Amino acid sequence: MKLAARRALIDSSGIRKVFDLAASLKDPINLSIGLPDFDMPEDLKDVAVEAIRAGKNRYTLTGGVPPLRKRIARYYEERGVPVEENMVASGTSGGLLLVFMALLDPGDEVLIPDPYFVMYKALTRFIGAKPVLVDTYPDFRLTRERLEAAVTERTKLLILNSPANPTGTVYSAEECRAAAEFAESRGIEVLSDEIYEEYVYDGEYVRPSTFLKRPIVVSGFSKSVAMTGWRIGWVAGPGELIRALTDIQQYTFVCAPSVAQETALRAFDLDMAPVRDRFRARRDLIADGLAAAGYNVMRPGGAFYIFPEAPGGDGEAFVHSAIENNLLVVPGNVFSERNTNFRISFAASEETLRRGVEVLSRLMQDRQAPAN
Ligand code: PMP
Repeated sequence: MKLAARRALIDSSGIRKVFDLAASLKDPINLSIGLPDFDMPEDLKDVAVEAIRAGKNRYTLTGGVPPLRKRIARYYEERGVPVEENMVASGTSGGLLLVFMALLDPGDEVLIPDPYFVMYKALTRFIGAKPVLVDTYPDFRLTRERLEAAVTERTKLLILNSPANPTGTVYSAEECRAAAEFAESRGIEVLSDEIYEEYVYDGEYVRPSTFLKRPIVVSGFSKSVAMTGWRIGWVAGPGELIRALTDIQQYTFVCAPSVAQETALRAFDLDMAPVRDRFRARRDLIADGLAAAGYNVMRPGGAFYIFPEAPGGDGEAFVHSAIENNLLVVPGNVFSERNTNFRISFAASEETLRRGVEVLSRLMQDRQAPAN
C-alpha cells in the first residue's frame, strides 16, 4: 500500500527497540514506565460506575460537559492563570494535537527545549511545521540565551513543560519570567504543558502559565490520579483559540469520553498530597542512590523521572547492558537529539527501585574497574 508521506514523519523505532528487547525478559526490574504505579482512587471508580448507570453514555457537547468546564475555569482562576476559556479533550495528547492543528502552518517553527516529551517533536513534524530544539544540557535549565540562539522570524510557538518529562526539571520563577518576556517581546505563543503539576517535591509549584499574559495551558488527570486509560485532558487559553479547538474536535474526536468527564469532575476534589509525599521519598531514594554510585545526574524537582548521564557517554549502549542485567530503562535519544543520557521512571515500588539502584551501581563499578 502506498501510505501518505506524512506517515514517514513519525518514527517510533527508538522506543520500540527497547520494548522488543524487554519482551525477552522474564521478570525485569522495570523502570521504564511513564505512568503512576497506583490504580485510580476507589471513590472515582464509584463515580464512574454511577455515571454509567445514570446513562451518561452518550455524546457530550463538543467542548465538554458544562460542570466540568466551569470547574476547570475555577481551578485556573484560583491559581491566577489568565485564561479566557477552556475545552475538554481526549487526553492531554488530544489537546496537544488540536492546538498544533489550530495554530501551526507548514513552515512555522516550534521551539522545544531538548530533552523533550516525544510527542512535541513528532506532532510538530506531522502538522508540517518545523521543530527547533533548544539544547539545555547539561543542567536542563531554560535561559533567555538558549532561547535567543534558536529563535528565527518563523518561530510561532514555544513549548514549556514543567515539571518535565524526561528530566524531572521544574523551572524556577526566574526561568518562567525570562521565557515569558522572551516570547512576549517577539509575539511568540506559549504552550505550557502542566500535566505533572501534582508531582512537585520542593516547595510550591511555580506554574509557568501564571507568568504569561496569554497562556495556552494543557493538563489532565492521566498522571495526577492515574487515569491514563480514560483519555481525559483539557486546554485552557484565549477564547479565539479554544473556539478553534472545539471546531476541530467536532470533526475529529467529537468529544472526550463522557464517563471520563463525569469522573474527572470529582477528581478535582481529591487530595493527592499523600501520593506526592510517597513519590518525593522515591525521588530521594533514586537520586541519592545514583549520586552515591557516582552517576552524573541532576536531582529532579518534579514528575517521576530522572535523567542521568550514561557511564561511558553512550545512552543506547548503556541501556543494552542494563537490559542484559534485567533492568529496563529508556535511552536518552528517544527524548533528545543527544544520546548521552538515559531515563529512569521512579513510578515504581521502593523494592523495585532498590533493586534498580543495585544494578546501576554494579554497572558503574564494572565500567570503572580497570580492564585486564
Ligand atoms: N505531556 C507529557 C509531558 C507527558 O509526559 C504525557 C504522557 N506521557 C502527556 C502529555 C500525555 O498525557 P495524556 O495521557 O493525558 O495524553
